[in-house]
Amino acid sequence: MKRLAVLGSTGSIGRSTLDVVARHPARYGVFALTANRDVIGMLEQCRRFHPERAVMADAAAADALRIQVREAGLAIKVDAGPEAVAEVAAADGVDLVMAAIVGAAGLLPALAAVRAGKRLLLANKEALVVSGPLLLEEARRSGARILPIDSEHNAIFQCMPDIAEGHLEEKGVRRILLTASGGPFRTTPIEGLATVTPEQACAHPNWSMGRKISVDSATMMNKGLEVIEACRLFHARPDQVEVVLHPQSIIHSLVEYIDGSTLAQLGNPDMRTPIAHALAWPERVVSGVAGLDLFQVGRLDFEKPDPARFPCLGLAFEAVRVDGTAPAILNAANEVAVAAFLDRRLPFMSISRVIAATMERIAAEAIEGVDQLLAIDAEARRVAEGIIRDAHSP
Ligand code: NAD
Ligand code: MG
Repeated sequence: MKRLAVLGSTGSIGRSTLDVVARHPARYGVFALTANRDVIGMLEQCRRFHPERAVMADAAAADALRIQVREAGLAIKVDAGPEAVAEVAAADGVDLVMAAIVGAAGLLPALAAVRAGKRLLLANKEALVVSGPLLLEEARRSGARILPIDSEHNAIFQCMPDIAEGHLEEKGVRRILLTASGGPFRTTPIEGLATVTPEQACAHPNWSMGRKISVDSATMMNKGLEVIEACRLFHARPDQVEVVLHPQSIIHSLVEYIDGSTLAQLGNPDMRTPIAHALAWPERVVSGVAGLDLFQVGRLDFEKPDPARFPCLGLAFEAVRVDGTAPAILNAANEVAVAAFLDRRLPFMSISRVIAATMERIAAEAIEGVDQLLAIDAEARRVAEGIIRDAHSP
């Protein structure tokens, strides 16, 4: 039996992971669950999965959970704080770590899991965007395997299983085609984007996801982060990754080989497929997702993304071309801008402006280590907050 730590278990990916795990009780056990503040969601998961450990990043939430766990008569050790999250990710009792915390907050626990040689199922793309070279270097050192959960990268992995080392050319690959739905505003007149609300931005046509990644999908920063993720995971140059709009979200990405072959992975848009793939790899297990009905799908469409509509995509390409700490600056500014938009403190079209202005104000450097990256993340957040405040002060 494989024992799991699910980081961010109360979120969209966390819940989908536990849905797959529950289908295979003889194969997977839950050692630890972690979340930020959702005490009710965590208590329900504790009753159902009986982990040995439960961690809340928020201390008050951990106190509340501890009382409820005791009242429910459950023998579960409850801890608090980010250090405890990282500690359970590296604990002896764990074989597989699902990294499904949203944002750069997931960086240290992902790093701890990799250093401890765990198999890391990586949904938390921001961790890879901020510290990709470090994570991969630590994985090489410890022998940890990183398996992509993001549907596109999982698709690429399925079309190009030999990801660990070597550049694309050495594998006979010409380029990676990263598909994108285009989000809820693919065809909205650009003038109409000035007034979109968080509710409209979070109503994704094909995928049900957390709020932050839903906004990222609407701006296409999600695809931008995924371009950086693809460059890191598959040792690709930015000019070897092309973004293709594919509104049906049936093809999850493609790999083009030098002999003219193009391989794609297809499936219904449901994250339980990539989750089950990475959980069982190199075997296969039932995920709960129905097979594809091609007659019902009927047709598959493809378009080029419009740079004027989706400026965030261009900013992400720029960041990965500059390299070093530029992706970390981009990511931090985006996290701050998206949070401000969700708080109704920033108009939708200003998200990209805040990111561009933050990138202009902070010079990128070569990556030196995790402390430097955390300091740059904090600085970029301060700068982005300042830009948002200045734009709204009378
Ligand atoms: P979500 O908001 O639904 O869930 C986030 C989880 O992280 C929750 O359990 C929350 O309690 C926890 N969390 C939040 N802040 C935290 C903090 N500071 N410290 C510790 N825990 C914290 O998000 P999601 O949609 O499940 O996405 C999770 C990650 O997976 C993101 O990086 C996202 O980009 C990636 N991803 C998601 C999907 C999807 O379909 N939802 C697809 C691909 C990739
Ligand atoms: Mg994705």
